Amino acid sequence: MTQTAAILGGGVIGGGWAARFLLSGWNVNIYDPDPEAERKIGEVLANARRSLPSLFETDLPAEGKLSFGTNLEAVVKDASWIQESVPERLELKQQILAQVQAVCDSNAVLASSTSGFKPSQLQKLLDNPAQLIVAHPFNPVYLLPLVELVGDIHTVTIAKTVLVDLGMFPLHVRKEIDAHIADRFLEAVWREALWLIKDGIATTGEIDDAIRFGFGLRWAQMGLVETYRVAGGESGMAHFLAQFGPALKWPWTKLMDVPELTDELINLIADQSDDQSGNHSIRQLERIRDDNLVGILRALKTRNWGAGEILNLHDRQLRPEHTAPENKPFVSIKRSIPIDWIDYNGHMNESRYGQVFSDAADAIMEYIGADQAYIESGLSYFTVETRIRYLDETKAGERIYVNTRVLNADGKKLKLLHEMHHVDGRLLATGEQMLIHVDLNSRRACLPQTEVLAKSEQLAAAHKRLPKPDYLS
Ligand code: NAD
Repeated sequence: MTQTAAILGGGVIGGGWAARFLLSGWNVNIYDPDPEAERKIGEVLANARRSLPSLFETDLPAEGKLSFGTNLEAVVKDASWIQESVPERLELKQQILAQVQAVCDSNAVLASSTSGFKPSQLQKLLDNPAQLIVAHPFNPVYLLPLVELVGDIHTVTIAKTVLVDLGMFPLHVRKEIDAHIADRFLEAVWREALWLIKDGIATTGEIDDAIRFGFGLRWAQMGLVETYRVAGGESGMAHFLAQFGPALKWPWTKLMDVPELTDELINLIADQSDDQSGNHSIRQLERIRDDNLVGILRALKTRNWGAGEILNLHDRQLRPEHTAPENKPFVSIKRSIPIDWIDYNGHMNESRYGQVFSDAADAIMEYIGADQAYIESGLSYFTVETRIRYLDETKAGERIYVNTRVLNADGKKLKLLHEMHHVDGRLLATGEQMLIHVDLNSRRACLPQTEVLAKSEQLAAAHKRLPKPDYLS
């Protein structure tokens, strides 16, 4: 049965949560007194629909139903996950959480997005404190996997399962603490940035350059400690600490002092930030950010590292079981076109058609049993010829599917025909492929194993009964 999430507060973060749940197939009920909430969530959703499907090599589930309500009880009644993302004011959060707990399902996960409060502070008015945990996400919630979980271990365990199903990365913060783990770093860095601007050492643009051209790139893939371990060279982490430890005692940083946010400092920062980014609207900046994040995350996927490993796991969760119904072609691919496959002509680059058809062939390989275990046993298929016809354009975010037929399965030879369609049915491209079965040790052609050959012959026989496309000679 479709699950329901209730989102209390539909601003930057609530909107991001709504998008994450909705695009993962959940129904979403929003509660937000702002008359503009529906428009604002619409903007976040448009960004999410454009970027989130780009992260995966298969279709996301069909979107759930989105509704808005003003009656709190009706909004939370059927929800198995309730996410509070109202403004960061303790009393407001305490009150709304108590109102919700009085009317929601006692088995629902009740979670707060708070950046700074501890569960024990938020639980003050609750009859069942253990139901409330902190689930602290990162903006944009629909793209970034991390969610810090703080609170009762039973509720955290249930929450972890749900978040993994959403393709996210739950990090259990085992001891409650102001601002959890990540925002403590961010606050330290922000404080230093404020000093550097106030003291006239750096502009906002120079501060951002110091991060994005250097350690920001390192952090995105290895974090802090592993990065420093590498910096320690062959002598290792202990050597690194001994070498740089004394520097920590020098007054490099302003430690806990915070510059006073006078009007003068606020105007200085705002003016510099306008100079730095003011030629882009916030919506443009969001799209630039999202496209860059998609590119970085997809690069990490190819390395199966860090956040990329989490996305690969989610791909495996999403991947449908392939079936080969009689009288129909084999549906080998269902996916969206990722942003980073688009070229200077504004459409999918020709090389990516080859990738789509290669992935389609892999789906057939898996179905006939020429899978990873088969390859590890020393047998596989190599593609020796491909003929692609480009018939129509396809753009970023568009959904496609590929119908694949086995045209011929004759001993060592396997001939495939892939037809790539837009989800509206338009034929976009065709690809004919000839594959040869090989022994991976001798690197020479050989016969497939009996079961693999039988399954490919079976598909070929079924597909022969389909009407032959007129473009085939
Ligand atoms: P926001 O101001 O963009 O959104 C808050 C929303 O809550 C608004 O749409 C507002 O209309 C609504 N609201 C106000 N009173 C309400 C009520 N009584 N009931 C329901 N809705 C109400 O703020 P935000 O940035 O989305 O932050 C929300 C929470 O998420 C905060 O606790 C914040 O600490 C946390 N958070 C923010 C970020 C971030 O980067 N912005 C990141 C992680 C967590």
